[in-house]
Amino acid sequence: MAENVTAAHVPLRGVSILGATGSIGTSTLDVIARHPGRFHVVALTAHSKVEELARLCARHRPRLAVIADATLEPALRQALARAGADTRASSGLPGLLEAAQCAEADTVVAAIVGAAGLLPTIAAARAGKRLLLANKEAIVCAGALLLEAVHAGGASLLPLDSEHNAIHQCLAGAPAGVGSEDGYGVGTGSGARQGVRRLILTASGGPFRQRRDFSAITPEQACAHPNWSMGPKISVDSATLMNKGLEVIEASWLFQVERSRISVVVHPQSVIHSMVEFGDGSVLAQLGTPDMRTPIAYALGLPERIDSGSARLDFLRLSALTFEEPDLKRFPCLGLAYRALESGPVASIVLNASNEIAVQAFLDRRLPFTLIAAVIERTLERTSAAAPRSVEAVMEIDGLARRQAQDAVARAGPP
Ligand code: NDP
Repeated sequence: MAENVTAAHVPLRGVSILGATGSIGTSTLDVIARHPGRFHVVALTAHSKVEELARLCARHRPRLAVIADATLEPALRQALARAGADTRASSGLPGLLEAAQCAEADTVVAAIVGAAGLLPTIAAARAGKRLLLANKEAIVCAGALLLEAVHAGGASLLPLDSEHNAIHQCLAGAPAGVGSEDGYGVGTGSGARQGVRRLILTASGGPFRQRRDFSAITPEQACAHPNWSMGPKISVDSATLMNKGLEVIEASWLFQVERSRISVVVHPQSVIHSMVEFGDGSVLAQLGTPDMRTPIAYALGLPERIDSGSARLDFLRLSALTFEEPDLKRFPCLGLAYRALESGPVASIVLNASNEIAVQAFLDRRLPFTLIAAVIERTLERTSAAAPRSVEAVMEIDGLARRQAQDAVARAGPP
């Protein structure tokens, strides 16, 4: 792919953002807008927020806008015209795939929420893009297939999730090569790193870290995260600690490391975003204020460090940094995710699909917070399938698990 070069000899990168209207999407656009000579926006996508998408198009002038709900394409055309945006409208899966693969974009930000992001994410990998991955559900469902697609397409995969981004930063200086004399190491191929004893993912503990009675939790309370401002699904996942479970699975794929060498530690201040412990006893950590623009800027700018707009960390104003063991009794979703990772790829797909159904039912007030884990556990018990060898097979297992989970929600009844 030919690279445009600006006067300052910084390559001008074309960026497609899948899920542009969401929390990660808008944070990415905020970082991009700080660097007009470095990035140009090529395509933006949304699910149903037509007006919001048109407004972003008027501001960032992409060539292509895609609305995933195809019935809304005429409304998008009208909204683009009203907003005065000279952007072509498209819709549905074909539109998402075009945004993921188009030649002018060398960078694709995968920020759709849920397994709905899987097909365009894989398409971007196959097309050899710099793939900036926020959509953790895609790698949880299809880790092996996504990595295969990255390899086959000659793509690069950079994590946006703050924990994995932190680990990526901590591993940057580690010597290449998987094993050391003690057998420590992570990764395969050119990304392999020597001497790594364990990855330590930090977790804020969410809004209910200190709460004992979970009986009357509302969606508003679950979405009120103490440190981070995020979309509703990941906010509920943070409240149940499923988010950390999905991240453990994500880390095992991204860094090619087994479950026993990934630890989770609750760190309520969200200052340390994650750590790597080496065989010599050194522990490297990445710190910063809790603002997703920092990991986004790191991944967008690599190998350079670029301004993110995040507030700077003021050590003299920090309270104590504290650490706790996660409580698997009060937060059973984390334990379910550990078990799913150990059981294999089918369980990870079922875990993710049933969690998406249970979280949506909770957000719609059809399921109490306390039964989210029960719906997932029941679905895991009732869904079996052969290990998937294709993305289509993953989608089939995902669909089966969703139907089982809907059934479990219906049986559980409203709060
Ligand atoms: P949001 O809910 O804020 O945004 C989701 C985006 O995806 C929106 O643009 C939405 O469009 C679009 N979308 C939703 N459903 C579909 C669908 N079926 N097909 C196509 N597009 C769809 O989510 P977040 O930005 O919070 O999270 C996005 C991803 O990033 C998630 O996987 C999350 O786990 C991950 N992540 C998020 C972090 C955060 O701080 N927010 C941190 C780390 C990871 P519309 O607006 O039209 O509904």
